Amino acid sequence: MTFSIHGLAVARGVAIGRAVLVASSRLDVAHYFIEADQVEAEIARLRVARNSVVEELQRLQKDLPKDAPHELAALLDVHLMLLQDEELTTGVKRWIRERLYNAEWALTTQYEVLARQFDEMEDAYLRERKADLEQVVERVLRHMTGAASPVAAPPPARAHREGELLLDDRHDVPLVLVAHDLSPADMLQFKKSVFAGFVTDVGGKTSHTAIVARSMDIPAVVGARTASQLVRQDDWIIVDGEAGIVIVDPSPIILAEYGFKQRQGALERERLSRLRHTPAVTRDGQRIELLANIEMPDDTRAALKVGAVGVGLFRSEFLFMGRHGVLPDEEEQYQAYRAAVEGMQGLPVTIRTVDVGADKPLDEVRHDEAHLNPALGLRAIRWSLSEPAMFLTQLRAILRAAAHGPVNLLIPMLAHLGEIRQTQVLLAQARAQLERAGTPHGWVRVGAMIEVPAAALIVDRFAQGFDFLSIGTNDLIQYTLAIDRADETVAHLYDPLHPAVLRLIAATLDAGTRHGKPVSLCGEMAGDPALTRLLLGLGLRSFSMHPAQILAVKQEVLRADAARLRDWALAVIAADEPAAMLAASA
Ligand code: PEP
Ligand code: MG
Repeated sequence: MTFSIHGLAVARGVAIGRAVLVASSRLDVAHYFIEADQVEAEIARLRVARNSVVEELQRLQKDLPKDAPHELAALLDVHLMLLQDEELTTGVKRWIRERLYNAEWALTTQYEVLARQFDEMEDAYLRERKADLEQVVERVLRHMTGAASPVAAPPPARAHREGELLLDDRHDVPLVLVAHDLSPADMLQFKKSVFAGFVTDVGGKTSHTAIVARSMDIPAVVGARTASQLVRQDDWIIVDGEAGIVIVDPSPIILAEYGFKQRQGALERERLSRLRHTPAVTRDGQRIELLANIEMPDDTRAALKVGAVGVGLFRSEFLFMGRHGVLPDEEEQYQAYRAAVEGMQGLPVTIRTVDVGADKPLDEVRHDEAHLNPALGLRAIRWSLSEPAMFLTQLRAILRAAAHGPVNLLIPMLAHLGEIRQTQVLLAQARAQLERAGTPHGWVRVGAMIEVPAAALIVDRFAQGFDFLSIGTNDLIQYTLAIDRADETVAHLYDPLHPAVLRLIAATLDAGTRHGKPVSLCGEMAGDPALTRLLLGLGLRSFSMHPAQILAVKQEVLRADAARLRDWALAVIAADEPAAMLAASA
């Protein structure tokens, strides 16, 4: 039966494929396809792991002290029984044989299928056996790590022609990941994965999970509330990343309609790609800088491919996340920053110092478990200043990378003048350390992110203290409107066009002009073509966004007359309902 689920639109495009449900706790399990001739070896690998667990449990049973509680022996019996359960073993083999999933993926997929059946059982005792099944699966997975698959590295995602519906029921169908939650670090792990689309129950439009999905240019819907409960393993689903809709079990008519939409999207992308070499100049001759936001050094390739004239935001925290507390040392960071600088072939790279915290925890701690109010907690520059040794290490690595090309250093989430002074002291210290050691390093321009209303309200002081400013609208909106950007329950109130937000942006741009300091905008607003004219009218000349958005924004720039937009833009921000004025002039 066809039904639809509504969430928040995150990344454009349409994905049509089979659902792969992944529990949040299992996201670190490898997901890749094996080759057809590796099926038997993969099944054997699983068998070996399962047999080892059986032996382990039998040994435990044998060595059980005489006075051990009776329940313990019964529990081991249940675990042994589950391990040898037909539904588990045949199910797992089927995923390997028919879909060519690697063994770990097949095992967790079948677990999800059985867990759902347990959830639906009337009998409370049987329902609780789900926890036992989970423990058993966990044990088998543990045995499999260390016993690597014969496939040394996950092969690249299977290619399928864009716009083509692959309704063949075997292994080469596109797959759509459905999860309750995905951390930004999980998303990053999926960056090179097999998935053609994503759906999550939680998350806001500018949550970092959504941001990474957008950077992957893969259709995604977040904040879909109960999607991971309503969608079943292997269901056919359509993800409409533009409308924020997930359609489950679509009818042939709906499939045909979305197949058409997919092809239209591909054609539009093809058309935009012709603008790659066109300079971004408005009709009245204003040169506009279109920069890329990146998460990893490798992303510079995507940036160059769409003609970005530099990197306006390298979110360095992605090098720090999901490493179980082991932070990258100076050498590792230096190599990563250098790779980005060299990757941009002489174009400037703006490296932002680590911005962990809030919805970007260092490790797997889910953000709702970490602190009472993590968005207002020890994040970004606050964390860096509380860990001076870590911060100095990062500053040295960035200064060293600057020996290889133009680098700008960007500091996130400043609010206090004291933070500016402390940052400057540590930067001078890092430079002195490199000089003393005779380590080559370069000069950097230093910029402040304006993303806390306090900073925007005293922006003149920031403009005096820095070489440039960069407006982080994702956080500026969150903190001005008191809306958690990662919370889908208040997502309807997260409004980039709130007059208060627009006036803070305008004030920051004006301060830049007064002090002769360049101002860039690197929040998600920069990549929204519907806002390009307004931002140009307010005086913005430097936009930084995901590479995937650059050409659509360039198209708007080419059509605009910046000088003539000025009065209109000032009227929009003075209005009670800027959104209505914007819509009226579209
Ligand atoms: C922002 O807040 O707008 C920004 C660009 O930084 P981040 O999204 O990483 O918080
Ligand atoms: Mg921010």
